[in-house]
Amino acid sequence: MSNSNAYVERILDLVAQRDPDQKQFKDTVTEVLKTIAPVLDAHPEYEQQKLLERLVEPERVVSFRVVWQDDKGEVQVNRGFRVQMNSALGPYKGGLRFHPSVCLDILKFLAFEQVFKNALTGLPIGGAKGGSDFDPHGKSDAEVMRFCQSFMTELYRHIGPDVDVPAGDIGVGGREIGYLFGQYKRIRDRYDAGVLTGKRIDYWGSLARTEATGYGLLYFVKNMLDAKGIDLKDKVVVVSGAGNVAQYAIEKAQAFGAKVVTCSDSNGYVYDPNGIDLDAVKEIKQVRRGRIKEYVETHPQAEYHEGCKGVWTVACDIALPCATQREIDLESAKTLVANGVTAVGEGANMPSTLDAIAYFQEHKVLFAPAKAANAGGVAVSALEMAQNSERLQWTFEEVDERLKGIMKNIYTQAKKNAEAYADPDDLVAGANITAFSNVAEVMMAQGLV
Ligand code: GLU
Repeated sequence: MSNSNAYVERILDLVAQRDPDQKQFKDTVTEVLKTIAPVLDAHPEYEQQKLLERLVEPERVVSFRVVWQDDKGEVQVNRGFRVQMNSALGPYKGGLRFHPSVCLDILKFLAFEQVFKNALTGLPIGGAKGGSDFDPHGKSDAEVMRFCQSFMTELYRHIGPDVDVPAGDIGVGGREIGYLFGQYKRIRDRYDAGVLTGKRIDYWGSLARTEATGYGLLYFVKNMLDAKGIDLKDKVVVVSGAGNVAQYAIEKAQAFGAKVVTCSDSNGYVYDPNGIDLDAVKEIKQVRRGRIKEYVETHPQAEYHEGCKGVWTVACDIALPCATQREIDLESAKTLVANGVTAVGEGANMPSTLDAIAYFQEHKVLFAPAKAANAGGVAVSALEMAQNSERLQWTFEEVDERLKGIMKNIYTQAKKNAEAYADPDDLVAGANITAFSNVAEVMMAQGLV
């Protein structure tokens, strides 16, 4: 075993030993560390300076109690967290997730992923993630507001435009960001527009931020397909999810001439042989805050199936997992490959398990890994911060052009490093090597922190 491989194994053992319950965190650390041996080989000083030991330990973890009252007057107690993983490249940056599954393991995995994703954007942002086990489903507007106010009453002391800048993620959209921002402003008594991103346009949000993750995913996938001479036009696309990422992935895939035949939520999936009617999905999700099964009430040709895993049994050319982590396991990967999938683009964070990724790669499926392919959302968040700093708003076209450029650059860098150090099509290795090199160099330059 080379020195680098031995170093990596030691760190993976350390992670497992320190936090044996944090399986998802260990998976994401494994995904990154298993691919960066060439960088470690070239830089023996990283091991001497314990760079990996530092990278796998968050700079700060905040855990707090969130007490609020529901509409019946009953007291509710949730857990709140912020994991400030790494600030080498800029203020901590990353979303807040409100979902019953939220725990330290998941937030550490997401924060670790965010460090490298943010580094790929080339913009000045460190990595963080936060959230709560609060479930917004079925809560009234007033309950969501009271929860957000209570959450921010603790979080405000740990964030700021040059300190840590949260945004949305699963369960946190424009409404929640509004309530969080209002409470921050009230407590701090100052208008720090840049303390949160994903704000509405009428109070200093960025145009194209809502669309950015989904559009960015398609820009990345298009770069990847163009390099192989494959056209998106008339390709059959399977999308999972029906939230913000999925909606704008569907929109851009359709704009590129592809036929998207599915979308899903945590209850089940819809298959529409005529192609998904995106306006109907937006109406159900954005206006009615309803469930995706309502789609078939107005689209009799479509089918609704209970259970979300079935979405991967629908034959397609391109699969875009845009729902959540670990939604494609080895079994689903095998089904997709057996049905002839050409490319997989990850819109969600780590939607494919490690064995699923390995299976795709063995079977020469073009694979766009999450931290590269879904970086468009956080990239436009960084552009929102830039606009807030200059107290100006850019046009939709300007932001969209920059997003296209950023996604192209991420693809080009990942491809270049894949060609130099790994299998030329291994964008997992290419993206990890690019991101790790950027973060590691800067950490070394900043000394022992
Ligand atoms: N939650 C998004 C992500 O996973 C966006 C984070 C942000 O804009 O800060 O990258």
